[in-house]
Amino acid sequence: MNILVLAEHDGQQLNPSSLQAITAAQFWQAPVHVLLVGSALDTIASSLATVSGVTKVIKAEAAHLENPLAEDIANLLVSISSEYSVILAAHTSFSRNTLPRAAALLDVAMISDVLEIQAENCYVRSIYAGNILTHIQSQDALQVLTVHSSHFIAATTQGGSADISAIDVPAPFTQTRWISTKQTQSDRPALSSAKVVVSGGRSLGSAENFEQVLAPLAAKLGAAIGATRAAVDAGYAANELQVGQTGIVVAPDLYIAVGISGAVQHTYGMKDSRIVVAINQDPDAPIFQIADYGLVGDLFDTIPAITAAIQ
Ligand code: FAD
Repeated sequence: MNILVLAEHDGQQLNPSSLQAITAAQFWQAPVHVLLVGSALDTIASSLATVSGVTKVIKAEAAHLENPLAEDIANLLVSISSEYSVILAAHTSFSRNTLPRAAALLDVAMISDVLEIQAENCYVRSIYAGNILTHIQSQDALQVLTVHSSHFIAATTQGGSADISAIDVPAPFTQTRWISTKQTQSDRPALSSAKVVVSGGRSLGSAENFEQVLAPLAAKLGAAIGATRAAVDAGYAANELQVGQTGIVVAPDLYIAVGISGAVQHTYGMKDSRIVVAINQDPDAPIFQIADYGLVGDLFDTIPAITAAIQ
């Protein structure tokens, strides 16, 4: 049986986490097929065909898939599922919206956010925002899972020579329709793939402070800006900047947590960062337990001073 990876892309580029999902798919030592859903997929299919370990790139192209609905992707996965023993994707908002629908339609378990694959149907996954690791075994003939991408090394983009083929897609799902997509334009790197992230918490106190204190530091470091849920709920930062269990999971080289307490729901989304720097006025703040470097101080003094000191 084959392994199917559902790829995530924006029409131009593959989301880097899909390369990590491709590495996870190698575990079964079976042919790895990658499913691309969209329209006009030739360019991205060609670049995927050279990814190491991929044996086949499958294009599911149709006009209604230009902005695909999770319902359409789930129906598509069901239509080709009989060829596969495993369907997997990186654990992102895209796959969290899509794969559970497919698993439900197929009446199999949804195994989400896998940290480690131990045997062909045995997995380690975290629960309670990463506080407890569970070891689970699935008896389903078809395993549907998402993988925690930072736990897998990205497949190299060269060396492969996969076949590219196209498949027929099921009729569009008519009970839901795509209306529009609103995308925030920013000169900063994308949060999910940035090498450096500067994140702020509720302690920034206002949207103006959030921008005025963090933006100059982020600009000097070429960093993306992130936020805690408390900062987002208070209206200091946009929803899409939320890092954590119910936000984006990041694993940059450097994560700077500014005035963030370190609640487990937040650290779930950043604890795989290579170096964590925490700035907090409370020496007992839990964030210091996972920080590589900690600075106890008032962020309104320390962040401008650090920013000024960076050449
Ligand atoms: P606080 O906990 O209020 O901490 C503020 C920190 O700033 C304190 O440590 C304080 O000492 C410090 N501080 C204050 N003033 C200064 C100053 N002048 N200088 C320096 N330090 C200062 N949270 C997330 O972030 N992401 C999630 O995805 C998420 N998902 C959740 C899901 C669920 C189901 C639940 C229940 C909660 C979730 N939360 C999430 C919320 C989480 O539990 C915390 O409430 C939140 O992370 C706290 O944000 P904070 O650190 O900004 O605020």
